[in-house]
Amino acid sequence: MNGVYLTLNAGSSSLKFALFDSAASSADPLLKGTVAGVGGTPAFTARGADGAKIDTGVALDGASDHAEVIARLLPWLAAQHAGRPLLAVGHRVVHGGQHFPEPTRITPPVLAQLQDLAPLAPLHQHHNLAAIRAVAQREPDVPQIACFDTSFHRTQSHLAQQFALPRTLTDQGIIRYGFHGLSYDYIASTLPEHLQDGADGRVVVAHLGNGSSMCALHARKSVATTMGFTALDGLMMGSRCGTLDPGVILHLIQHEGMRADEIETLLYTRSGLLGVSGTSNDMYVLQNTDTASARDAIDMFCYRAACGLAGLVPSIGGLDALVFTAGIGENSALVRTKICGWLDWLGVSLDDVANDQAATVISAASSRVKVLVVPTNEEAVVARACRALVR
Ligand code: ADP
Repeated sequence: MNGVYLTLNAGSSSLKFALFDSAASSADPLLKGTVAGVGGTPAFTARGADGAKIDTGVALDGASDHAEVIARLLPWLAAQHAGRPLLAVGHRVVHGGQHFPEPTRITPPVLAQLQDLAPLAPLHQHHNLAAIRAVAQREPDVPQIACFDTSFHRTQSHLAQQFALPRTLTDQGIIRYGFHGLSYDYIASTLPEHLQDGADGRVVVAHLGNGSSMCALHARKSVATTMGFTALDGLMMGSRCGTLDPGVILHLIQHEGMRADEIETLLYTRSGLLGVSGTSNDMYVLQNTDTASARDAIDMFCYRAACGLAGLVPSIGGLDALVFTAGIGENSALVRTKICGWLDWLGVSLDDVANDQAATVISAASSRVKVLVVPTNEEAVVARACRALVR
Protein backbone atom coordinates (compact mmCIF):
# COMPACT_ATOMS: atom_id res chain seq x y z
CA MET A 1 0.00 0.00 0.00
CA ASN A 2 1.35 3.43 -0.91
CA GLY A 3 1.24 6.19 1.63
CA VAL A 4 3.54 8.53 3.48
CA TYR A 5 6.09 8.36 6.28
CA LEU A 6 6.40 11.19 8.77
CA THR A 7 9.79 11.89 10.35
CA LEU A 8 10.04 13.85 13.60
CA ASN A 9 13.11 15.30 15.28
CA ALA A 10 12.17 16.80 18.63
CA GLY A 11 14.99 19.04 19.88
CA SER A 12 15.17 20.95 23.15
CA SER A 13 13.23 23.91 21.75
CA SER A 14 12.31 22.86 18.24
CA LEU A 15 10.42 20.21 16.30
CA LYS A 16 11.59 19.36 12.79
CA PHE A 17 9.25 17.33 10.60
CA ALA A 18 9.20 15.91 7.08
CA LEU A 19 6.84 13.82 4.97
CA PHE A 20 8.18 11.21 2.56
CA ASP A 21 6.43 9.28 -0.19
CA SER A 22 6.55 5.60 0.80
CA ALA A 23 6.86 4.50 -2.82
CA ALA A 24 9.87 6.66 -3.68
CA SER A 25 13.39 5.95 -2.40
CA SER A 26 14.42 9.59 -2.86
CA ALA A 27 16.17 11.46 -0.05
CA ASP A 28 13.96 14.47 -0.89
CA PRO A 29 10.78 14.82 1.18
CA LEU A 30 7.33 15.84 -0.07
CA LEU A 31 7.51 18.64 2.46
CA LYS A 32 9.59 19.58 5.47
CA GLY A 33 9.33 22.15 8.19
CA THR A 34 10.24 23.33 11.64
CA VAL A 35 8.43 24.58 14.69
CA ALA A 36 10.96 26.76 16.49
CA GLY A 37 10.50 28.22 19.96
CA VAL A 38 8.71 25.20 21.48
CA GLY A 39 8.21 25.97 25.18
CA GLY A 40 8.07 29.71 24.41
CA THR A 41 6.40 31.30 21.40
CA PRO A 42 6.25 28.59 18.73
CA ALA A 43 6.91 29.67 15.14
CA PHE A 44 5.99 27.43 12.21
CA THR A 45 7.65 27.25 8.78
CA ALA A 46 7.29 24.59 6.08
CA ARG A 47 8.45 24.14 2.51
CA GLY A 48 7.20 21.88 -0.25
CA ALA A 49 9.21 19.51 -2.44
CA ASP A 50 10.13 22.41 -4.75
CA GLY A 51 11.55 24.39 -1.81
CA ALA A 52 8.73 26.96 -1.97
CA LYS A 53 7.32 28.16 1.33
CA ILE A 54 3.90 26.73 2.27
CA ASP A 55 1.74 29.65 3.34
CA THR A 56 -1.09 27.87 5.13
CA GLY A 57 0.49 27.21 8.50
CA VAL A 58 -0.63 25.63 11.75
CA ALA A 59 -2.18 27.78 14.47
CA LEU A 60 0.09 27.19 17.45
CA ASP A 61 -1.10 29.93 19.84
CA GLY A 62 -0.94 28.58 23.36
CA ALA A 63 0.78 25.31 22.34
CA SER A 64 3.13 25.12 25.29
CA ASP A 65 5.09 21.90 24.69
CA HIS A 66 6.03 19.27 22.11
CA ALA A 67 2.88 17.20 22.82
CA GLU A 68 0.55 20.12 22.13
CA VAL A 69 2.53 21.18 19.04
CA ILE A 70 2.29 17.62 17.67
CA ALA A 71 -1.44 17.45 18.46
CA ARG A 72 -1.95 20.54 16.27
CA LEU A 73 0.54 19.48 13.60
CA LEU A 74 -0.86 15.99 12.86
CA PRO A 75 -4.26 17.14 11.47
CA TRP A 76 -2.48 19.76 9.34
CA LEU A 77 -0.12 17.11 7.98
CA ALA A 78 -3.07 14.76 7.31
CA ALA A 79 -4.60 17.47 5.13
CA GLN A 80 -1.29 17.83 3.25
CA HIS A 81 -1.20 14.11 2.39
CA ALA A 82 -4.96 13.75 1.91
CA GLY A 83 -5.87 10.45 0.26
CA ARG A 84 -2.60 8.75 1.19
CA PRO A 85 -2.45 7.02 4.57
CA LEU A 86 0.21 7.66 7.16
CA LEU A 87 2.10 4.34 7.20
CA ALA A 88 4.67 5.08 9.92
CA VAL A 89 6.25 7.80 12.03
CA GLY A 90 10.04 7.70 12.38
CA HIS A 91 11.77 9.55 15.21
CA ARG A 92 15.31 10.68 15.75
CA VAL A 93 16.18 9.42 19.24
CA VAL A 94 19.48 10.62 20.62
CA HIS A 95 20.49 7.75 22.91
CA GLY A 96 20.01 4.07 22.14
CA GLY A 97 22.54 2.82 24.66
CA GLN A 98 23.91 -0.68 24.12
CA HIS A 99 20.55 -2.31 23.45
CA PHE A 100 19.67 -0.59 20.20
CA PRO A 101 22.31 -0.92 17.49
CA GLU A 102 19.62 -0.67 14.77
CA PRO A 103 16.40 1.30 14.10
CA THR A 104 13.69 -0.29 16.20
CA ARG A 105 9.91 -0.51 16.16
CA ILE A 106 8.64 1.21 19.31
CA THR A 107 6.64 -0.95 21.73
CA PRO A 108 5.83 -0.23 25.40
CA PRO A 109 8.91 -2.21 26.64
CA VAL A 110 11.17 -0.38 24.14
CA LEU A 111 9.77 2.95 25.34
CA ALA A 112 10.53 1.99 28.94
CA GLN A 113 14.15 1.12 28.02
CA LEU A 114 14.54 4.44 26.22
CA GLN A 115 13.15 6.24 29.25
CA ASP A 116 15.89 4.65 31.37
CA LEU A 117 18.50 6.21 29.06
CA ALA A 118 17.08 9.73 29.48
CA PRO A 119 19.61 10.83 32.14
CA LEU A 120 22.39 10.20 29.59
CA ALA A 121 20.97 12.79 27.20
CA PRO A 122 19.21 15.32 29.43
CA LEU A 123 18.93 17.97 26.72
CA HIS A 124 17.28 15.66 24.19
CA GLN A 125 15.88 12.28 25.22
CA HIS A 126 12.84 13.56 27.16
CA HIS A 127 11.75 15.58 24.15
CA ASN A 128 12.24 12.63 21.78
CA LEU A 129 10.09 10.43 24.02
CA ALA A 130 7.44 13.13 24.49
CA ALA A 131 7.05 13.23 20.71
CA ILE A 132 6.63 9.42 20.57
CA ARG A 133 3.96 9.51 23.29
CA ALA A 134 2.12 12.41 21.65
CA VAL A 135 1.91 10.51 18.35
CA ALA A 136 0.81 7.30 20.12
CA GLN A 137 -2.02 9.21 21.74
CA ARG A 138 -3.32 10.66 18.46
CA GLU A 139 -2.47 7.78 16.11
CA PRO A 140 -2.33 4.60 18.25
CA ASP A 141 -2.45 2.28 15.24
CA VAL A 142 0.38 3.86 13.27
CA PRO A 143 3.73 2.07 13.76
CA GLN A 144 6.50 4.22 15.22
CA ILE A 145 10.20 3.67 14.56
CA ALA A 146 13.10 4.95 16.68
CA CYS A 147 16.36 5.77 14.86
CA PHE A 148 19.28 6.33 17.17
CA ASP A 149 22.14 8.80 16.97
CA THR A 150 24.32 6.26 18.73
CA SER A 151 23.75 3.29 16.37
CA PHE A 152 26.12 4.33 13.57
CA HIS A 153 29.10 4.18 15.96
CA ARG A 154 28.58 0.57 17.00
CA THR A 155 31.13 -0.45 14.32
CA GLN A 156 33.91 1.08 16.44
CA SER A 157 36.55 -1.10 18.05
CA HIS A 158 36.61 -1.81 21.76
CA LEU A 159 39.75 0.35 21.90
CA ALA A 160 37.91 3.38 20.54
CA GLN A 161 34.87 2.92 22.79
CA GLN A 162 36.44 2.18 26.14
CA PHE A 163 37.32 4.73 28.85
CA ALA A 164 40.45 4.26 30.97
CA LEU A 165 38.24 3.32 33.92
CA PRO A 166 37.97 0.11 35.93
CA ARG A 167 36.57 -2.71 33.81
CA THR A 168 33.49 -3.08 36.03
CA LEU A 169 32.32 0.36 34.90
CA THR A 170 32.90 -0.52 31.25
CA ASP A 171 30.85 -3.66 31.78
CA GLN A 172 28.04 -1.50 33.19
CA GLY A 173 27.87 0.38 29.87
CA ILE A 174 29.97 3.40 30.77
CA ILE A 175 31.58 3.63 27.34
CA ARG A 176 31.95 6.15 24.51
CA TYR A 177 28.68 5.88 22.54
CA GLY A 178 29.11 8.78 20.12
CA PHE A 179 26.23 10.81 18.63
CA HIS A 180 25.06 12.56 15.41
CA GLY A 181 24.97 9.08 13.87
CA LEU A 182 22.02 9.80 11.56
CA SER A 183 23.92 12.72 10.07
CA TYR A 184 27.11 10.66 9.62
CA ASP A 185 25.10 7.81 8.11
CA TYR A 186 23.63 10.19 5.54
CA ILE A 187 26.98 11.81 4.69
CA ALA A 188 28.59 8.35 4.36
CA SER A 189 25.87 7.41 1.85
CA THR A 190 26.76 10.43 -0.32
CA LEU A 191 30.52 9.82 -0.42
CA PRO A 192 30.54 7.65 -3.58
CA GLU A 193 28.88 10.53 -5.44
CA HIS A 194 31.45 13.07 -4.18
CA LEU A 195 34.66 11.06 -3.87
CA GLN A 196 34.11 8.20 -6.35
CA ASP A 197 36.85 5.60 -5.67
CA GLY A 198 37.98 7.61 -2.63
CA ALA A 199 34.66 7.07 -0.85
CA ASP A 200 36.04 4.12 1.10
CA GLY A 201 39.18 6.02 2.10
CA ARG A 202 40.09 7.90 5.27
CA VAL A 203 37.43 10.57 5.82
CA VAL A 204 36.62 12.87 8.73
CA VAL A 205 33.11 14.37 8.82
CA ALA A 206 32.73 17.57 10.85
CA HIS A 207 29.10 17.94 11.98
CA LEU A 208 29.17 21.52 13.29
CA GLY A 209 25.81 22.81 14.53
CA ASN A 210 24.48 23.81 17.94
CA GLY A 211 25.74 20.41 18.96
CA SER A 212 29.03 19.61 17.25
CA SER A 213 31.11 16.49 16.79
CA MET A 214 33.43 14.83 14.31
CA CYS A 215 33.57 11.26 13.07
CA ALA A 216 36.44 9.37 11.45
CA LEU A 217 35.21 7.02 8.73
CA HIS A 218 36.96 4.20 6.94
CA ALA A 219 35.09 2.25 4.29
CA ARG A 220 32.18 4.57 5.23
CA LYS A 221 31.96 3.03 8.71
CA SER A 222 32.50 4.87 12.00
CA VAL A 223 35.96 4.20 13.42
CA ALA A 224 36.18 6.93 16.07
CA THR A 225 34.26 10.03 17.13
CA THR A 226 34.79 13.02 19.40
CA MET A 227 31.61 12.63 21.48
CA GLY A 228 31.58 10.09 24.29
CA PHE A 229 29.23 8.73 26.95
CA THR A 230 27.03 11.80 26.61
CA ALA A 231 26.74 14.58 24.02
CA LEU A 232 28.84 16.87 26.26
CA ASP A 233 32.25 15.54 25.28
CA GLY A 234 34.58 16.50 22.46
CA LEU A 235 34.32 19.74 20.52
CA MET A 236 33.30 23.08 21.97
CA MET A 237 29.61 23.70 21.10
CA GLY A 238 26.94 26.39 21.21
CA SER A 239 26.35 26.11 24.94
CA ARG A 240 28.15 22.86 25.85
CA CYS A 241 31.73 22.80 27.06
CA GLY A 242 33.14 19.82 25.15
CA THR A 243 36.26 18.11 26.50
CA LEU A 244 36.94 19.19 30.07
CA ASP A 245 39.39 18.07 32.70
CA PRO A 246 37.19 15.98 35.07
CA GLY A 247 39.15 17.63 37.88
CA VAL A 248 37.23 20.86 37.16
CA ILE A 249 34.00 19.09 38.12
CA LEU A 250 35.56 17.78 41.34
CA HIS A 251 36.78 21.29 42.14
CA LEU A 252 33.30 22.78 41.58
CA ILE A 253 31.76 20.19 43.92
CA GLN A 254 34.43 20.20 46.62
CA HIS A 255 35.47 23.85 46.72
CA GLU A 256 32.62 25.85 45.14
CA GLY A 257 29.82 23.83 46.76
CA MET A 258 27.99 23.27 43.48
CA ARG A 259 25.32 20.57 43.24
CA ALA A 260 25.11 18.04 40.41
CA ASP A 261 22.09 19.74 38.82
CA GLU A 262 23.86 23.11 38.88
CA ILE A 263 26.92 21.62 37.21
CA GLU A 264 24.71 19.94 34.62
CA THR A 265 23.13 23.29 33.75
CA LEU A 266 26.55 24.96 33.64
CA LEU A 267 28.11 22.38 31.31
CA TYR A 268 25.12 21.89 28.99
CA THR A 269 23.59 25.35 28.76
CA ARG A 270 26.00 28.05 29.95
CA SER A 271 29.31 26.99 28.43
CA GLY A 272 30.70 26.72 24.90
CA LEU A 273 30.30 29.72 22.58
CA LEU A 274 27.82 31.27 25.02
CA GLY A 275 30.08 30.91 28.04
CA VAL A 276 33.21 32.23 26.32
CA SER A 277 31.55 35.09 24.42
CA GLY A 278 29.22 36.04 27.27
CA THR A 279 26.64 37.02 24.64
CA SER A 280 25.36 34.22 22.39
CA ASN A 281 25.43 30.50 21.63
CA ASP A 282 24.75 31.25 17.97
CA MET A 283 27.68 31.32 15.52
CA TYR A 284 25.88 33.58 13.05
CA VAL A 285 25.22 36.14 15.79
CA LEU A 286 28.82 35.97 17.03
CA GLN A 287 30.20 36.46 13.53
CA ASN A 288 28.19 39.67 13.40
CA THR A 289 29.23 40.86 16.86
CA ASP A 290 32.32 43.06 16.88
CA THR A 291 33.71 42.36 20.35
CA ALA A 292 36.93 40.75 21.54
CA SER A 293 35.01 38.07 23.48
CA ALA A 294 32.92 37.10 20.42
CA ARG A 295 36.11 36.78 18.33
CA ASP A 296 37.74 34.80 21.14
CA ALA A 297 34.80 32.37 21.24
CA ILE A 298 34.95 31.79 17.46
CA ASP A 299 38.74 31.34 17.53
CA MET A 300 38.48 28.86 20.39
CA PHE A 301 35.71 26.92 18.64
CA CYS A 302 37.89 26.57 15.53
CA TYR A 303 41.13 25.76 17.37
CA ARG A 304 39.44 23.06 19.42
CA ALA A 305 37.70 21.65 16.34
CA ALA A 306 41.11 21.31 14.65
CA CYS A 307 42.52 19.63 17.77
CA GLY A 308 39.51 17.28 17.81
CA LEU A 309 40.16 16.36 14.19
CA ALA A 310 43.85 15.78 14.83
CA GLY A 311 42.90 13.41 17.66
CA LEU A 312 40.88 11.27 15.23
CA VAL A 313 43.55 10.92 12.54
CA PRO A 314 45.51 8.04 14.17
CA SER A 315 42.36 5.90 14.19
CA ILE A 316 42.24 5.92 10.38
CA GLY A 317 45.98 6.29 9.73
CA GLY A 318 45.85 9.61 7.87
CA LEU A 319 43.36 11.82 6.08
CA ASP A 320 42.10 11.75 2.47
CA ALA A 321 38.99 13.90 2.79
CA LEU A 322 37.31 16.28 5.22
CA VAL A 323 33.56 16.96 4.95
CA PHE A 324 31.86 19.92 6.63
CA THR A 325 28.16 19.65 7.42
CA ALA A 326 25.29 20.99 9.66
CA GLY A 327 24.38 24.64 10.35
CA ILE A 328 27.86 26.01 10.96
CA GLY A 329 29.74 23.54 8.76
CA GLU A 330 27.48 24.24 5.77
CA ASN A 331 27.13 28.00 6.19
CA SER A 332 30.19 29.53 7.82
CA ALA A 333 33.07 30.11 5.39
CA LEU A 334 34.88 31.88 8.24
CA VAL A 335 34.78 28.83 10.52
CA ARG A 336 35.89 26.52 7.70
CA THR A 337 38.81 28.86 6.91
CA LYS A 338 39.89 29.08 10.53
CA ILE A 339 39.68 25.33 11.16
CA CYS A 340 41.56 24.49 7.97
CA GLY A 341 44.13 27.16 8.86
CA TRP A 342 45.29 24.86 11.67
CA LEU A 343 45.51 21.83 9.37
CA ASP A 344 47.98 22.68 6.60
CA TRP A 345 50.51 20.26 8.16
CA LEU A 346 47.99 17.51 7.29
CA GLY A 347 47.88 18.60 3.64
CA VAL A 348 44.66 20.65 3.89
CA SER A 349 44.52 23.75 1.70
CA LEU A 350 41.36 25.66 0.74
CA ASP A 351 40.28 27.39 -2.45
CA ASP A 352 39.08 30.65 -0.88
CA VAL A 353 36.64 31.51 -3.67
CA ALA A 354 35.04 28.05 -3.62
CA ASN A 355 34.87 28.24 0.18
CA ASP A 356 33.16 31.66 0.11
CA GLN A 357 30.62 30.30 -2.39
CA ALA A 358 30.08 27.12 -0.31
CA ALA A 359 30.79 25.01 -3.40
CA THR A 360 30.72 21.25 -2.85
CA VAL A 361 34.50 20.96 -3.27
CA ILE A 362 36.27 23.78 -1.45
CA SER A 363 39.86 22.47 -1.36
CA ALA A 364 42.53 23.97 -3.63
CA ALA A 365 43.59 21.89 -6.64
CA SER A 366 46.96 21.40 -4.93
CA SER A 367 45.45 20.23 -1.62
CA ARG A 368 46.43 16.67 -0.70
CA VAL A 369 43.21 16.36 1.33
CA LYS A 370 39.93 16.93 -0.49
CA VAL A 371 37.63 19.26 1.47
CA LEU A 372 33.87 19.19 0.85
CA VAL A 373 30.72 20.92 2.04
CA VAL A 374 27.76 18.49 2.00
CA PRO A 375 24.36 19.40 3.50
CA THR A 376 23.20 16.78 5.95
CA ASN A 377 19.77 15.09 5.77
CA GLU A 378 18.98 13.17 8.94
CA GLU A 379 15.32 12.91 7.91
CA ALA A 380 16.26 10.84 4.85
CA VAL A 381 17.97 8.28 7.10
CA VAL A 382 14.87 8.05 9.31
CA ALA A 383 12.62 7.66 6.24
CA ARG A 384 14.91 4.89 4.94
CA ALA A 385 14.49 3.03 8.25
CA CYS A 386 10.69 3.39 7.98
CA ARG A 387 10.84 1.87 4.47
CA ALA A 388 12.94 -1.04 5.73
CA LEU A 389 10.86 -1.79 8.82
CA VAL A 390 7.31 -1.09 7.65
CA ARG A 391 6.10 -3.22 4.78
P1 ADP B 1 21.10 22.04 15.57
O1 ADP B 1 22.20 21.32 16.28
O2 ADP B 1 20.17 22.78 16.47
O3 ADP B 1 20.39 21.21 14.49
P2 ADP B 1 22.10 23.52 13.28
O4 ADP B 1 22.77 22.42 12.57
O5 ADP B 1 20.84 24.08 12.68
O6 ADP B 1 21.87 23.20 14.80
O7 ADP B 1 23.17 24.71 13.42
C1 ADP B 1 22.89 25.90 14.09
C2 ADP B 1 24.14 26.77 14.05
O8 ADP B 1 24.44 27.09 12.68
C3 ADP B 1 23.95 28.09 14.79
O9 ADP B 1 25.10 28.38 15.56
C4 ADP B 1 23.83 29.08 13.64
O10 ADP B 1 24.27 30.37 13.97
C5 ADP B 1 24.78 28.46 12.64
N1 ADP B 1 24.58 29.05 11.32
C6 ADP B 1 23.52 28.92 10.51
N2 ADP B 1 23.67 29.71 9.40
C7 ADP B 1 24.87 30.35 9.54
C8 ADP B 1 25.62 31.28 8.74
N3 ADP B 1 25.16 31.72 7.58
N4 ADP B 1 26.83 31.68 9.22
C9 ADP B 1 27.30 31.25 10.39
N5 ADP B 1 26.65 30.37 11.19
C10 ADP B 1 25.46 29.92 10.77
